[in-house]
Amino acid sequence: MSSIDETVLGFYHLPMNTVVKESETARARVLEGARVAGEIKREVAEVVERLRRDRAVTPCLVVVRVGDDPASAVYVRNKVRMCEELGIRSEHHALPADTDTEQVLRLIASFNAREDVDGILVQLPLPRAVDERRVVEAIDPSKDVDGFHPVNIGLLVLRRPAMVPCTPLGILELLTREGVEISGRRVCVVGRSQIVGRPVAELLLQRDATVTICHSRTQDLPSATREADILIAAVGRAAFIRKEHVKPGAVVIDVGINRVTDEAQALDFFGESAEKRLKTIRERGYTLVGDVHPAEVAKVAGWLTPVPGGVGPLTVVMLMQNTVTAALRRRGL
Ligand code: NAP
Repeated sequence: MSSIDETVLGFYHLPMNTVVKESETARARVLEGARVAGEIKREVAEVVERLRRDRAVTPCLVVVRVGDDPASAVYVRNKVRMCEELGIRSEHHALPADTDTEQVLRLIASFNAREDVDGILVQLPLPRAVDERRVVEAIDPSKDVDGFHPVNIGLLVLRRPAMVPCTPLGILELLTREGVEISGRRVCVVGRSQIVGRPVAELLLQRDATVTICHSRTQDLPSATREADILIAAVGRAAFIRKEHVKPGAVVIDVGINRVTDEAQALDFFGESAEKRLKTIRERGYTLVGDVHPAEVAKVAGWLTPVPGGVGPLTVVMLMQNTVTAALRRRGL
């Protein structure tokens, strides 16, 4: 972790029940997801190189995209680019928007049958005409690098070796590598989606945290979130978590990725660092904000992940790790 302001004490350096007081001058320290992602990337690249050298194996990831959603195109490009960087072979299959479910299923079946394919990823969301559930369930669970197949969800809950969804896995890596104590801590996850909220809650429960999951029907959300030593926001609403949601000194993980186009909003969200964000809006038309109000929460939290540069880079790198894990497990290594 790097510190923005060394005057603040993050709770996790302190004994379990220490109370950290909110201070007007306090600034949360930055939990640098991008740096940790770089560390994991180097480790994965080393394993890929060893596999190539010692076993003549090159892991292979197949990515399927249907339709022309611009955000999906960017995500897929990033994944393919990282494969190239790490020496993982990749195939990108871009299908037209009018592709039907049966066509996608046939393609998946062909990848399931191919010995050289280790990972299959179907970029979601799919066009409405394609049955997402049938597609996800058609993927061979041993090649399901997104960890969305019911078999993998079941294995995860049963605490058996599973392919685990990338974002939750990245959050766990970040906390572990940055020395955040999990066992015995109170964790609150806001959001109960199958791709983030539920699996991250399960992973942290497995690490002996006391976990609360909140959602849109939770009553008195702040009283639940303020209990948390580690607060994870996966809500999908810009700057939703405010200072009243956060226990002073808490570790706050911001999973959200939301676009901000309005300059007045950016001024409110980013406070002192708004100038850079306003420049980005003028140049690109938008800037990114998470599900946490950064200017407010930085004054209360002990540690906070930035957006961008926090959870996002970890998600892509964990996909690479899952691909290598699949390649190893499929060969009994
Ligand atoms: P999602 O499927 O839309 O789930 C959102 C969750 O938030 C739901 O469980 C919903 O509750 C809950 N929620 C909505 N409004 C709420 C409120 N007022 N109070 C409390 N809970 C509320 O979203 P997701 O796929 O989990 O993604 C969440 C965010 O993470 C999005 O911004 C997404 O872009 C981002 N994301 C980032 C990455 C990354 O790599 N950084 C990866 C995946 C997702 P109900 O269940 O009751 O509806």
